[in-house]
Amino acid sequence: MITGESDVLLVIDVQNDFCPGGALAVPRGDEVVPIINRLAGRFANVVLTQDWHPPGHLSFASAHPGRRPFEMTTAAYGPQVLWPDHCVQGTPGADFHPSVTIPHAALVLRKGMRRTIDSYSAFYENDRKTPTGLVGYLRERNLTHIFLAGLAFDFCVRYSAEDAARAGFAVTVIEDACRGIDMEGSVAATHRSFESLTIPRVWENDFS
Ligand SMILES: [Zn+2]
Repeated sequence: MITGESDVLLVIDVQNDFCPGGALAVPRGDEVVPIINRLAGRFANVVLTQDWHPPGHLSFASAHPGRRPFEMTTAAYGPQVLWPDHCVQGTPGADFHPSVTIPHAALVLRKGMRRTIDSYSAFYENDRKTPTGLVGYLRERNLTHIFLAGLAFDFCVRYSAEDAARAGFAVTVIEDACRGIDMEGSVAATHRSFESLTIPRVWENDFS
């Protein structure tokens, strides 16, 4: 594969809290950093996303008395996993991993700012209706093929890939530039979803 002017690398949530030592660490999440740095060098267009919650966010178990992280709750828009407090606006945990080096990234898109709605996807919040504005940004810039990398494979990368495909973009997931949480078979479910949407999975070595 050779990347072109209409391709964009969308880097999902490579933040301290999602890396080992962070509040919601994805196992071996930090391993994606050098891979993504190398990949970013192949793309003229790069967008970074940043999970960016206010204190007391609805997705935090701590906001629900008596509930614990990784339990399910029901939000107004449907089922919602309760997470440890993570990526609180302006805290070190919300910062990008310090080794992320992508100075030519054109946009940092923050998501999950509304206290009562979580946002796994870079495109729509978890109510599936509230847009982040990213579809409009990509369309206006004539970026038609989205390559996805980042954390976590089976949540924010998955939802972003699915929404991008539904919005009509060509979508490719760079598998070795992602790491997953794998809750109750969520990685296998992600692979099945990508197959059903014919979203290809590639590896860094596929780029030349
Ligand atoms: Zn979050």
